[in-house]
Amino acid sequence: MTAPLPALPAKIHPLVRAFLDTRDALDETLIRFGLPVHLVFPQVFAENLKQLRTVLDRELPTYRICYAHKANQSRAFVRTAEHAGIAIDVASPQELASAIGAGFGPMRIEVTGPKGEAFLRTLIECGATINVDNLWELRRIAELAGDRATVPVLLRVSGFPGSPLSRFGVPLEHVDRALDLLSAHRGRISFLGFAFHIDSGENAERVRAVEACLTLVERAYAHGLSPRVLDLGGGLRQVFTADADRFDGYVRALRDALLGRGEPMSWGANTFGYHVDDGAVHGTPVFHKYANTIPATRMLADLLTAPLERHGGRTVAQVAADNLLDLWLEPGKALLDHAGVTVARVEFVKELGDGTLLVHVDLSRDAVTPADQEVMVDPIVLPSAAHDKDERYDDGAITPLRSAADTAPALRPVRETGPVGVYFAGRLCLERDLVTNHKVWLPQRPRSGDLVVFPNTAAYHMDLSAASASMHPPPAKLAVAHRAGSFQVCRDTDYEPHSPVGLPPVHRTPPRASRRTPVPRETEAP
Ligand SMILES: *Cc1c(COP(=O)(O)O)cnc(C)c1O
Repeated sequence: MTAPLPALPAKIHPLVRAFLDTRDALDETLIRFGLPVHLVFPQVFAENLKQLRTVLDRELPTYRICYAHKANQSRAFVRTAEHAGIAIDVASPQELASAIGAGFGPMRIEVTGPKGEAFLRTLIECGATINVDNLWELRRIAELAGDRATVPVLLRVSGFPGSPLSRFGVPLEHVDRALDLLSAHRGRISFLGFAFHIDSGENAERVRAVEACLTLVERAYAHGLSPRVLDLGGGLRQVFTADADRFDGYVRALRDALLGRGEPMSWGANTFGYHVDDGAVHGTPVFHKYANTIPATRMLADLLTAPLERHGGRTVAQVAADNLLDLWLEPGKALLDHAGVTVARVEFVKELGDGTLLVHVDLSRDAVTPADQEVMVDPIVLPSAAHDKDERYDDGAITPLRSAADTAPALRPVRETGPVGVYFAGRLCLERDLVTNHKVWLPQRPRSGDLVVFPNTAAYHMDLSAASASMHPPPAKLAVAHRAGSFQVCRDTDYEPHSPVGLPPVHRTPPRASRRTPVPRETEAP
């Protein structure tokens, strides 16, 4: 027995797995819409939402979920969010238009991120809740707000003890200036409360942020304001790996390879954020998020039940309820976890002078990779059905033909290359357009026409960095639903959620008598 080859097996949602296994449905889809394609599964989104709601319903009397649109441009997801009665977090005029187009009214729209003058004017006009990023924005809102209606705002704060410097939000040190402004313009601005968004997998950072915000709530009261919302932002994590031990094993082998031990496992001089010196590998790799095994539901439950030292050990959820604070969340990736894959085609396999194998696919790295990350889950190769008749045209070794079984036709080709380590290469004529900079082991050498499925691409992978270099259009986006026993596929823009089969009843809590102005919240959704 030899040791298993390094591998990064991907977790795949059963619905996605079932679609990929229904080869007729997949092939028919690809004939109809072409390749490459992004496939989104709105029913997985709905299921993720249901699971988060189950945790929230257990811990809180009221809450609000704002789906962070920036994680994917898909209309199908936005329609699903709208249909499910949650709110939406938008961060550009285009996302705002997308939300409105999908049926969201201003009461269910929250706007985050930095906003320029023109966008601010639009927002004041439209009446959505503005999650204010900085003091300039706040002053400008006060100036632009007419006397017709008050502008609902949240104040995003940052610079919490122990958190790295953030470019977003009003630093804690400047919050008093914001409170002065909010208090001076009470007739024009309706201050809902404080918000933060921490881009970290660590709940401890969020708990410190909650404690700091609770102190700010008291300071706001001292300014004559009455905040009633605490927005905890997003950051609930995804689980990419199906096998944490194999993931760790792969990373060990990769680190060894960076030190020159064993077979090379990285393209060029890539070190994935590691520092290699003095015969050792140091630092945190850029791909650390792919190692996570804690599901979003557990992370959320842990956050809500975290004890707060300054509040006698009462939990985040209890203290929020005691203070009549509505907790808002802005999950992006947690709602999209496993709700999408990207399918490309192998164009050809190329062998370099040193024996390195490149599997060329018909999309580019930016279509499946967010920003500067390295995606550490193995793509899945689905052999082309056409190979049953075709000869192979790749360069490199020719595999002998052999009958698959005694009774099978003698000319059925069977691949006998055994496992191969490859890099996936993109379609751009740029040296850096490698879809994987780390080596991927496949059970056998792929061939032209094989399909390559990139798992779990819905959150950020599909849309965050996608460019149209060399005038390549982006892959088409299709929505896949399982209804009445079969798969239905349509363009993403045409998708409509059906009656809420399997969705929980909308969570309803009677409005509290103590509140004069009702807070727009998901429980008020139709
Ligand atoms: C991106 C973003 C989110 C979503 O973050 P996830 O990590 O995808 O949950 C939420 N809020 C703000 C302000 C953001 O910028």
